[in-house]
Amino acid sequence: MYVDSHCHLSFPELAQDLPGVLQRMRDSNVVAALNVCTTLTEFPAVLAVAEQHSHIVASVGVHPDSQDTEEPTVERLVELADHPKVVAIGETGLDYFRLQEPLEWQRSRFRTHIRAARQCGKPLIIHTRASPDDTIRVMQEEGAGEAGGVMHCFTESLAVAEAAMALGFYISFSGIVTFKNARALQEVARAVPLQRLLIETDSPYLAPVPYRGKTNEPSFVPKVAEKVAELKNMSVADVAAGSTANFFNLFRAVRDIPAEHDQSVAAAQNGN
Ligand SMILES: [Zn+2]
Ligand SMILES: [Zn+2]
Repeated sequence: MYVDSHCHLSFPELAQDLPGVLQRMRDSNVVAALNVCTTLTEFPAVLAVAEQHSHIVASVGVHPDSQDTEEPTVERLVELADHPKVVAIGETGLDYFRLQEPLEWQRSRFRTHIRAARQCGKPLIIHTRASPDDTIRVMQEEGAGEAGGVMHCFTESLAVAEAAMALGFYISFSGIVTFKNARALQEVARAVPLQRLLIETDSPYLAPVPYRGKTNEPSFVPKVAEKVAELKNMSVADVAAGSTANFFNLFRAVRDIPAEHDQSVAAAQNGN
């Protein structure tokens, strides 16, 4: 039983065949997914998928790469997060790879999300790219540890992972960990304890080996679990069960479970 902790079901690549995407999820034993929001404009569509499907939950937030878009306030985020299917604030964070300084607006937007997460008591989904020091600094300055959350699609060093874990954050690995040129990241995955680890697709991008070049989708997340298991010298079942339990512990996701999964989900939610 697997969970995709980060995907974008509302992006056109997946939205155009949502029934097929959800069917292949079931066929691959992927029992739940977190549909992640990137702009306030997108939010109604993100939430609609979660409202229509018991095993999908949603987040609310504005991505650091979304430049010409409605700027969120703490009040607006808290208001939109006040819904049982909105389980997280994000994705938010810093991205110095795609955009260049001056990026004070990006850091300020990141602070807004952390304040909203603290206020509504829901965890953060943090995107960090080419900005490790500032990401950790802002998290520390804003007390992000009080909200907790996940460093999603993690590609930074073990030192950055450790700094985030010290704040109580989980580290989520995507299909990038299966890539041949991802040796350094594979070493990080080896070192992050299973108790702190999540898996995700970040679909529709970054399909794992052996699907590279294809449109990524939640049904591919077992490939991430298989790679993590190989790296950590564990069984795939242990990585699947551990990462699924972590997902439910972190996001406290409320949902209906297909009957055949009842017992295993209950066990996962209890942290077994
Ligand atoms: Zn991201
Ligand atoms: Zn994303």
